[in-house]
Amino acid sequence: MSKRDYYEILGVARNAGEAEIKKAYRQMAIKFHPDKNPGNKEAEEHFKEAAEAYEVLSNTEKRQRYDQLGHRGMGGAAGGGAAGGMNMEDIFSHFGDIFGEGNPFESFFGGGGGGGTRGGRRVNRGSNLRIKVSLTLEEIANGVEKKIKVNKFVSCNSCKGSGAQDGGSFTRCSTCQGSGQVHRVTSTFIGQMRTTSTCPTCSGEGQIIANKCKSCHGSCVQHGEDTITINIPPGVGEGMQLTVSGKGNLGERGGVPGDLIIVIEEIKHAHLMRDGNNLLYDLYINFADAALGISTEVPTIEGKAKIKLDAGTQSGKVLRMKGKGLPSVNSYGKGDLLINVNVWTPQHLSSEEKKLLEQLRNSANFKPNPGKGDKSFYDRMKEFFHS
Ligand SMILES: [Zn+2]
Ligand SMILES: [Zn+2]
Repeated sequence: MSKRDYYEILGVARNAGEAEIKKAYRQMAIKFHPDKNPGNKEAEEHFKEAAEAYEVLSNTEKRQRYDQLGHRGMGGAAGGGAAGGMNMEDIFSHFGDIFGEGNPFESFFGGGGGGGTRGGRRVNRGSNLRIKVSLTLEEIANGVEKKIKVNKFVSCNSCKGSGAQDGGSFTRCSTCQGSGQVHRVTSTFIGQMRTTSTCPTCSGEGQIIANKCKSCHGSCVQHGEDTITINIPPGVGEGMQLTVSGKGNLGERGGVPGDLIIVIEEIKHAHLMRDGNNLLYDLYINFADAALGISTEVPTIEGKAKIKLDAGTQSGKVLRMKGKGLPSVNSYGKGDLLINVNVWTPQHLSSEEKKLLEQLRNSANFKPNPGKGDKSFYDRMKEFFHS
């Protein structure tokens, strides 16, 4: 599905200024807000689309890249996918910036009227991580469990993720009296409204660290390593992305982790080539074997398999081993193994060999006589391009 132009989504000109873009987004966010359009999938899509457009156009660097490269310049190689989309939490977390103190929506998401100092708190979501995983064709055929080491932000060891030095001493935030929220009455487009927003002093924690942890400086996270076990399903392919949710970087100050995105890389097989779910193999036989017929072996993903070639097999014949290809990642069934027979013409001959062949050269059976049962070059090419 092709994406709509970001400027078009927000309904602004390509040279629109920062304030204009913000204003356009604010209007879209109000119009398509899920609370005003309950159960309306289309509104939700517009809401997300606008948020994504604003995300890019409100950031000078991203906007420049988008202007130059369009959607290709954004996010993952596949143009979006796991990396491109924004979730609702991301979108709402930006509302403080968009609506400022008078955010008319903040109170709706704050955790429903009180309870605990964490209500209304903005949650820091850690960033996503992308890791390449290389797989052999055998691993792709059967699916595989991989243990991978990931370097990422984890909970700080020294303060056990609290952000405070020596496990202690938080003081109550004086701005919000420990509630984590500040209230005020403001005039909004809806009218007079009591709004609740996150306390700017303590970021909604309700408390302030007296002595910040010396290793993480109160961020609660540190560089670390994690070993993650992932189950890769059979049939994946080069460039495919798998998302392992919650295994990315941990967000700062008690935040939640982002996702781990696995990007599949295929290791070339020594003999077999992949074409979708089919596997291709080039078999070379000598002229005598082609004329007399032979039993021989071909490699498959499960090891060697015996095949029998009839006497009189022509070069270019394709044998199909049903179900010996790769499984499909999102449906049932398997591809085939296609064996292309090549008859090898000797390039060097001894005088003895030459003599023998000279004797056969004009033999009636050596005269090419294609026809019945032999596919023409044209038919073979047609098959090739349409299979
Ligand atoms: Zn720490
Ligand atoms: Zn506070």
